[in-house]
Parts: sequence; C-alpha cells; structure tokens
Amino acid sequence: MKGLRPTEYPNVMSDGDNLYTRNLSEGHSVYGELLVNFDESEYRRWNPRRSKLAAYLLLSNASGDLRSNDTILYLGAASGTTVSHISDIVNEGTIYAVEISKRAFRELLANCSDRSNIVPILGDARNTDHLSTFLDQADYLYEDIAQRDQVGIFTSCMRRFRCRTGMLMLKCRSIDVSASPKAIAGDAEKEIEESGLTVKSVTDLSNFEKDHFALLVKR
Ligand code: SAM
Repeated sequence: MKGLRPTEYPNVMSDGDNLYTRNLSEGHSVYGELLVNFDESEYRRWNPRRSKLAAYLLLSNASGDLRSNDTILYLGAASGTTVSHISDIVNEGTIYAVEISKRAFRELLANCSDRSNIVPILGDARNTDHLSTFLDQADYLYEDIAQRDQVGIFTSCMRRFRCRTGMLMLKCRSIDVSASPKAIAGDAEKEIEESGLTVKSVTDLSNFEKDHFALLVKR
C-alpha cells in the first residue's frame, strides 16, 4: 500500500485518497474496515460512505476542530461506526455516546467494550436532564439523529452542555420530504444563528450521503 501521511486532525492519516485512524483497539475491526500497519502502529480505513464525519473531512476545507483530549457528546451513536473512529481520534478524551434504539445500543456495547474512552448511554437526546446525570459540560457536540426536531435538539444541547464546537449532520428529508434540501439547510443555518451560535461552514455531503449537510458550529 501507499505510505500514510499525517492530516491536520490528531491520529488521522491519509494515503491521498482515503483517511485512516490509529486503532486504539489493535487487531479489532468494527464494521469490516481494512486494518493496515504503518510506522509501528495499526490504522483503520475510514469509509466516507459509512461515516458522515469522514465524508465531511474529505469534502470540506474547513477544520473539524477535534482535539485529542476533547470530551464529546455524541447523539445518535447507532452501532458505533463513527463513534469508534472518534474514539481513535480523542485517545486522551472521552465520548458520551447516546443511542435511543435498544437494538442498536446492544451492538454499540459489543463494538465499544474494548475501548475505555467510550461511555455508552441508552437514552433520548431530547432528555437533557437524563444526559446531565452523566456529564455537565462537553467540548464538542456531534449530532446525527435524523429526526424532525434535529436542529432544536442540537441548539438545546449546545447551550446546556456549553460546547465549544458542534457538528450537526443534517438529514434534510427527516425535516421535510417535499422541500429542497438546500433550502432546509439554509433554514437550519438561520435557526442556529438565531439561537446565538455561529455557523462556521455548511458542507454538502451529497457526494457520499444524499440530502445530507454538515454544519460546523461555534459558540
Ligand atoms: N452516527 C451513526 C454513525 O455514523 O455511525 C449513524 C446514526 S443513524 C443515521 C441515526 C441514529 O440515531 C439511529 O441509530 C437512531 O436510533 C438514533 N436516534 C434517533 N433519534 C434519537 C434520539 N432522540 N436520541 C438518541 N438517538 C436517536
């Protein structure tokens, strides 16, 4: 294989075409991704068709602003595909990974049992009182929940957990199937700005995920 070179993100390498994260749990692949050895470390290939964060990092010129010691509040963990790559990135931090579906949560538990920086939470992202029994504050909010009220949940968690940075993976069709995805992304940007937050970038992910936009937000 081609050599890997560092990217601007901690513990993320690139071969020019693909991204890789340094595997915190050596020898284990989470969703069948390729494992490769480079410079005495093992890396996991990060599939942008399975993870919107990889798609965002490949498509955007803006920074993802993830730091290796960040505390992450992750809403919509599913079985842990993206959570596992963020776990590789924030190797000195912690991810609180929230998932509402019991079935997905069981898979999440199986996939993160050997990763000590993941705290799995079975719960509803709307219930901030429940979430605040686990954490008071987070550096980074990541939301990917495909719900009609996804923007309101995002702004409410940014405020409640005083997050420095937020990444909203907006699924436009969950808000309105008949409106244009671009118009929905514009409305979401406006709603976030009106809540007192700053939208740094809006990235169309449709090369990898149809009708999805990534909104990078700062307090
Ligand atoms: N982020 C995942 C990844 O990249 O690996 C994929 C997430 S999937 C698109 C959306 C997930 O959000 C589903 O597993 C769903 O059960 C979960 N979800 C939906 N509504 C939720 C809510 N209110 N609270 C927590 N999780 C929710």
